[in-house]
Amino acid sequence: MQLDGRFVQGGVAVGRTAPDAAVFLDDTQVGLASAEGWFVIGFDRDAPAEQVLRVSGQGADAVRRLTVQPGDFDVQRINGLPQSQVSPTNPQLLARIRAEALRKQAGFASQAARADFREGFILPLSTYRLSGRFGGQRVLNGVPARPHYGVDMAAPRGTPILAPAGGLVAFAETGLHYEGGLVMLDHGQGLISAYLHMSRLDVATGQSVTQGQVIGAVGAEGRATGPHLCWRMKWRERNLNPMSLVGFRAA
Ligand SMILES: [Zn+2]
Repeated sequence: MQLDGRFVQGGVAVGRTAPDAAVFLDDTQVGLASAEGWFVIGFDRDAPAEQVLRVSGQGADAVRRLTVQPGDFDVQRINGLPQSQVSPTNPQLLARIRAEALRKQAGFASQAARADFREGFILPLSTYRLSGRFGGQRVLNGVPARPHYGVDMAAPRGTPILAPAGGLVAFAETGLHYEGGLVMLDHGQGLISAYLHMSRLDVATGQSVTQGQVIGAVGAEGRATGPHLCWRMKWRERNLNPMSLVGFRAA
């Protein structure tokens, strides 16, 4: 088994084994390698320090003990958010949030047979100011909330957002309560990147994009205190740090 990547909380690794071999993390099957044997594994914000990776079947049987370094997470206090964005109580709004959550879940569950994750990622904005790091403990209007699972990149409204790698558009909607305009790109092997608070979408669900293609523009729609791109990455329910893919290229 070949394996290379960033072994840190929020990080990602890319491996190669026998075609279609089953991939297990700590005895839970997390997927099947591609027809060329490529696979992805990710370590979420709270991933344990020791994990066991196993590939099995198709003549490939190998075990690798992985050491995952701890992430460095800060505390992020955001005040002045409207209460409907922090702890909504209106029944109609709650129903809308639930319906949006189901559609987003379907987007994150996309399973395109692609290997765009191999080409290495570029940044989605050419100039920006980092306004929120991955994994920060959020305190919203003084109340501790879920950690921040994105990287916040402040830039003027209308700044073009580039696809950091090729992918299939798995989700593209405007007007979501929390996210405003939201696009998800499926880069293969369960690796899905997401772009939040967009003011304009230039792509539609089901479309393929290439690295560097403009997918829309920065905005402040949804739960945002100013124009920025919240860039997220998910792999099989785990939230990853999208920055861990920038400049990384699978051999
Ligand atoms: Zn964010």
